[in-house]
Amino acid sequence: MAVNAKRPVFAHQLMAWQRMHGRHDLPWQIKPVDPYRVWLSEIMLQQTQVTTVIEYFERFVARFPTLHALACASEQEVLSLWSGLGYYQRARNLLACAKTLTAQHDGRFPESAQQLALLPGIGPSTAAAIASTVFGERAAILDGNVKRVFARLTCAAPPWGSPALERTLWAEAVKRLPEQSDQMPIYTQAIMDLGALICRPKNPQCGRCPVAQYCQAFQRGQVDRYPVARVRRSLPLRKAYWALCFDADGIWLMQQLSSGIWPSLWLPWAINPDALPRGWKSTIQGLQEVVEVRHCFTHYRLLISAAMVRLNRNTPPIGAPKGLQRFVWKEALRLPLPTPVARLLSRLCPAAITTDGEPRKSRRS
Ligand code: SF4
Repeated sequence: MAVNAKRPVFAHQLMAWQRMHGRHDLPWQIKPVDPYRVWLSEIMLQQTQVTTVIEYFERFVARFPTLHALACASEQEVLSLWSGLGYYQRARNLLACAKTLTAQHDGRFPESAQQLALLPGIGPSTAAAIASTVFGERAAILDGNVKRVFARLTCAAPPWGSPALERTLWAEAVKRLPEQSDQMPIYTQAIMDLGALICRPKNPQCGRCPVAQYCQAFQRGQVDRYPVARVRRSLPLRKAYWALCFDADGIWLMQQLSSGIWPSLWLPWAINPDALPRGWKSTIQGLQEVVEVRHCFTHYRLLISAAMVRLNRNTPPIGAPKGLQRFVWKEALRLPLPTPVARLLSRLCPAAITTDGEPRKSRRS
């Protein structure tokens, strides 16, 4: 069969595969389709895998079953439920979007991708995913998985992350859409499932791929060359020093300002590196060890040296800054925490428990 098969054939084969082998039991796929659940899942799935999202999604809808319930929530409550999922701006945008929809759209989602993309936190691909899944609009999605699929299908030459690749793949994604709008929900799910289940970043399952006959990379035996890797530049390294003061029952944390790298989240006492005396480790009373944690942001890497300082119960740390508060472990684990702090707390907390009393699962970085 010709590589450039006609659009309907490609789409129909993909949809037929999805009906047989795709995912149908995800918690946001319940019928009748609920725009609130679809939107929530799409925001959570940005940069995060389905297996991680499911647990968070279920907790979130149990606490906020409707858009209205979410719109009435406080930012701290939302951040707290988001704790560990990372990329906290998504949670802030989620709340802003719920408030906007309630105040300006009568609590309803606009029905076109173009209008959805005007709302906080909804980019073009997320808007298309909601519009096609909920309202059957012929709108193309292009998340990371789908980009990889189309880059391989077309042997796209521009490197990953480049504007040229974006332009090429958007055009391709639009070209491949099915003709009937009532096919859009299943097609959108199918292309997402293909990227997640078959055309994976490593070891793609080309032997089980429903569209292998249209895939230029497969036909040329060059699957491992696509997508073309971005030109890597090494990110600058920044350092941070924390004093993580704790005792047998609790821990001392401080809420960040609404600006900064982790706005409104809870962190240990940050020590000014310029104020550290020579041999600073020996000057800290109760110092158990210094743990190094690395965290990657888009534009730099952060190396955190966390001094684990064990105190006597209810003895405030000497020289503690205003705002440093003590929480018992269970309370601390309910706070919105950046991933490196959550990791440190899990390491320190005697039972490493969740707020439900269950063992805490490892978090994504
Ligand atoms: Fe991806 Fe392989 Fe299918 Fe091509 S044939 S789309 S590389 S899984």
